[in-house]
Amino acid sequence: MGAEQQLYLAPAAWVNGAWAQDVLLTAGADGQWSSIAPNAPADAQRGARRLDGPVVPGLVNGHSHAFQRAMAGLTEHSGAAEDDFWSWRDRMYSAANRITPEQLEAIAAFLYCELLRSGYTHVCEFHYLHNGPEGRPYADPREMSLCLMRAAQRTGIGLTLLPTLYMRSGFGAKTLREDQCRFASTPDSVLRIAELVARQGGRVAAGVAVHSLRAVDEVALRELAAVATGMPVHIHIAEQRREVDDCIEHHGLRPVEWLLAKVALDASWNLVHSTHCTQAELEGLRNRRASIVLCPSTEANLGDGIFDLPAWMGQSGSWAIGSDSHVTRSWQEELRLLEYSQRLGLRQRNVAARAALCESSAAALFEGALEGGSAAAGRPLGGLMAGQRADFLVVDATSSALAGIPPDHLLDALVFSSPAPAFSEVFVAGQAVPAADPAVRAGFVRAMKELWT
Ligand SMILES: [Zn+2]
Repeated sequence: MGAEQQLYLAPAAWVNGAWAQDVLLTAGADGQWSSIAPNAPADAQRGARRLDGPVVPGLVNGHSHAFQRAMAGLTEHSGAAEDDFWSWRDRMYSAANRITPEQLEAIAAFLYCELLRSGYTHVCEFHYLHNGPEGRPYADPREMSLCLMRAAQRTGIGLTLLPTLYMRSGFGAKTLREDQCRFASTPDSVLRIAELVARQGGRVAAGVAVHSLRAVDEVALRELAAVATGMPVHIHIAEQRREVDDCIEHHGLRPVEWLLAKVALDASWNLVHSTHCTQAELEGLRNRRASIVLCPSTEANLGDGIFDLPAWMGQSGSWAIGSDSHVTRSWQEELRLLEYSQRLGLRQRNVAARAALCESSAAALFEGALEGGSAAAGRPLGGLMAGQRADFLVVDATSSALAGIPPDHLLDALVFSSPAPAFSEVFVAGQAVPAADPAVRAGFVRAMKELWT
């Protein structure tokens, strides 16, 4: 973390949902913006480092399972007669059950470098690989959590680590399946990890997660929610129709209905996916100020379904974006896919823009993902504004997608013209992220070889 104030001058910057010119950006020694000054006069620009492209805030990646980066591109052959989320999950478990702490750290470090280069400056790690193979606890119960924290520190990305509660194999079950023993945890063990993570400080924050309603019983869920005060709480919910049907069969309520009825949801809650929700459920979540984390590329890859984006944006619901299984590490692709799935389903154009009462689809999507990021991360990561962490990206002005683009359409091209423009520099907490270390790539390649050959 830098010990001094940093001054930058951006030719253009995305401030409060619009482009501003000649913006003087001042980051304090604490890594947060102390001031953002558009139309800075020449004398105020003295001493500032000139950035060589337009500046946009970094985005939070609200949902990650780092180890699943090792499967990207490896689950696209059709094998079983049924090929759906559940058959994919069995294949994912076969990887989860083999990964060593060293491999997890190598995979996470490579992933976090990729995320940074693609413009994510903070990642929320939904972490349930707690134990060793066959479920034997490690001597230090934080073993796997520490791997993720070291990977984040090595690369410079901000991290909210969400140790995850996982106790049973399905609704009504008492125990885990044999291939789920690495996930075994209790409200107490999860909270202990979260408390140790919270002490780390700096760019690392703590939260907790509940894997899903099927994986946790009501008593344990309430117990964890009651003690996790002041931290973000994440949960996978309503991702799959079968999960919704099982919940109705077991509880007589849909998953989000059940959560609304049984748990004191508030602004600290982040519901991941929420794909299969009714209008009434979405209204209930909005009334409690809960946020939703959407993972469009993974939801498409797994054939989950299409989230009702116009309903949620229409009531100004808070949401963030997550790359989940990491089949893509680009938020530009996530936002594009989020909008395109709506257009295909509704046979309309500019769905997000109309739902958000905003002219530009890209602005509606980018602002939405930006605003929900802070809730997911439990940190002030809301953009170029005093008091927010000084995370920002310099857009590569030489990208072919930007050639001849009028300045007021720059964000539109950044999201909707593909191959998407790259970022020439990435800053976290006011500091430039160093160039990728070749050893990080070599470590990932080695881990992949060990896992798959
Ligand atoms: Zn997930």
